[in-house]
Amino acid sequence: VMGIRQLPSQLINQIAAGEVVERPASVIKELAENSLDAGATRIEISVERGGSKRLKITDNGSGIVKDELELALTRHATSKIRSLEDLEGVSSLGFRGEALPSIGSVSRLTLTSRTHTDSNAWQLRCEGGQVLSSEPAAHPQGTTIQVDDLFYNTPARRKFLKTENTEFRHIDDLVRRLALVRPQVEFRLSHNGKAVRHYPPATNEAESLRRMTTALGRGFADESVQVHQEGAGLSLSGRVGLPTFSRSQADAQHFFVNGRMVKDRLVAHAVRQAYADVLYHGRHAVFVLELTLDPGRVDVNVHPAKHEVRFRDSGLIHSFIFQTLHRALGQVRPEAQNVSPAGSGLAGGSPRQAGAIPTQSFATLSVREPTADWSGLYASGNTQLPAGSDQAGAAALQEPESEACGPPLGFAVAQLHGVYILAQNHAGLVLVDMHAAHERITYERLKTSVDNDGIRSQPLLVPVVVKVSEAEAELAAQSPEVFADLGFEVDRSGPEELKIRQVPTLLSRADPEALVRDVLADLSGVGHSSRLREAHNEVLSTMACHGSVRANRRLEISEMNALLRDMERTERSGQCNHGRPTWTQLDMAALDRLFLRGR
Ligand code: ADP
Ligand code: MG
Repeated sequence: VMGIRQLPSQLINQIAAGEVVERPASVIKELAENSLDAGATRIEISVERGGSKRLKITDNGSGIVKDELELALTRHATSKIRSLEDLEGVSSLGFRGEALPSIGSVSRLTLTSRTHTDSNAWQLRCEGGQVLSSEPAAHPQGTTIQVDDLFYNTPARRKFLKTENTEFRHIDDLVRRLALVRPQVEFRLSHNGKAVRHYPPATNEAESLRRMTTALGRGFADESVQVHQEGAGLSLSGRVGLPTFSRSQADAQHFFVNGRMVKDRLVAHAVRQAYADVLYHGRHAVFVLELTLDPGRVDVNVHPAKHEVRFRDSGLIHSFIFQTLHRALGQVRPEAQNVSPAGSGLAGGSPRQAGAIPTQSFATLSVREPTADWSGLYASGNTQLPAGSDQAGAAALQEPESEACGPPLGFAVAQLHGVYILAQNHAGLVLVDMHAAHERITYERLKTSVDNDGIRSQPLLVPVVVKVSEAEAELAAQSPEVFADLGFEVDRSGPEELKIRQVPTLLSRADPEALVRDVLADLSGVGHSSRLREAHNEVLSTMACHGSVRANRRLEISEMNALLRDMERTERSGQCNHGRPTWTQLDMAALDRLFLRGR
């Protein structure tokens, strides 16, 4: 056997490097975070061959004084904390004093720096962690770190590097995240001598939005909503993509906690839950969100690369994020500002535009028109609609096209093949998928009635026995309210046994054992479960689907208008329960383009 030996410091650093330096992009992450901690407002990154040949990062931050250059490369040396209390309230991105020595131990590193008091810069050259030289150099205030031949002395790691393009893509992603979390800082990125990205500093709302557009594509700015919520010492702000702007991968989800990019399970769960109702299965939301809170309420020292954090009051944070997003997404419904600006619409009424619309369609123009009760009409399978209901609309037609531009979704003009409603609003043409729209409305109604009247339960004649682990049985016993809230009654009937005695009526045909198991898995995984609510909502959603107006039903104009008004009032009415859009707008300009008018 080998005797016990203290490892040499270079080997210790190389082992530590395994934790923080996975690939060139992680080197950039550590170095750029140092630049941000040093107060840099401009960061330039250039890489060669995906970063495996060379990485160089220059900042205009505070710099490092000559006497401390060597210390910066020493393990556990940091200028950011001094004590445990400092650690508990740490607001800098770094604090472990590990990055530079780790990177230095697996590369040839050159560190050049100058503070505002120095008359010249100093440069340190190292190889595999050994300092080779230290000499004066020319450099403006700030720091440049160049990393050559990453992993040159750890061939096993070098083998794991992917192609040049793949590694560069990781770097590009990383710089995108940095740019999103620090809008005021200017970033430049070049690859093999070619400028690839430039994020100019953003100092106002419009410039931040432009930066988001650069980072996440043009569509995002249009198809997202602003979020800002404060409360309980927490602040959540940013933009969340509309459900119709979802992606097949969870690759455009940016969450920051106190300026730090994190991938957190609790956060991911809260966001997923907020979208649960509006996102098609297997689709992923797009968002940029920053949570700000007292640094003392979050433990950032959980992961060497600090990808994860731990919240002291995780339940509160979960519901804060969930509720904020749930509300923001709930407010997505047709609104005047979603519709393109007037001028192209009818409000101003150029003869050409007015002439294009059959006059009798104005017969139903009335904001005051009473709303037909949809839920009753179809539940009974009644296909006969009340006659003369459009007379009411006609009576109110004298309503002048007053101050506003009319309701956002305008007024129905016709029905197309029993599937779509064509409506006219001030901007142009609105197309509505009537089944999808009605399904959403019915679903939201069902949910509201459950919320108001509570959930009805029914006892099981024979309780269902579920065998679980002891830990799960304890968990269930500790959180009876999770089950009770949704109409379940679950008792612990033995050290490793639960009994389901009562289930919600709506879920009486679901498999209660599977549901309870899933809930327990959630509770132990994220300390929170939305399974029952989701299962419940799924049933409501199915009911809504069956209770909604089917395609190929002929509707009267007044019924169509009633549906439009209902959509305007209903939360989340922009998408059906499966996340498909329920309506779309073609404004006059778009129509003109179709016919090459005005060219
Ligand atoms: P940490 O960031 O955890 O303190 P690092 O190994 O990343 O540890 O850096 C060590 C120290 O070197 C930092 O605490 C900081 O004082 C200094 N330093 C590193 N990079 C820079 C930089 N770009 N500008 C100014 N100081 C820097
Ligand atoms: Mg650092």
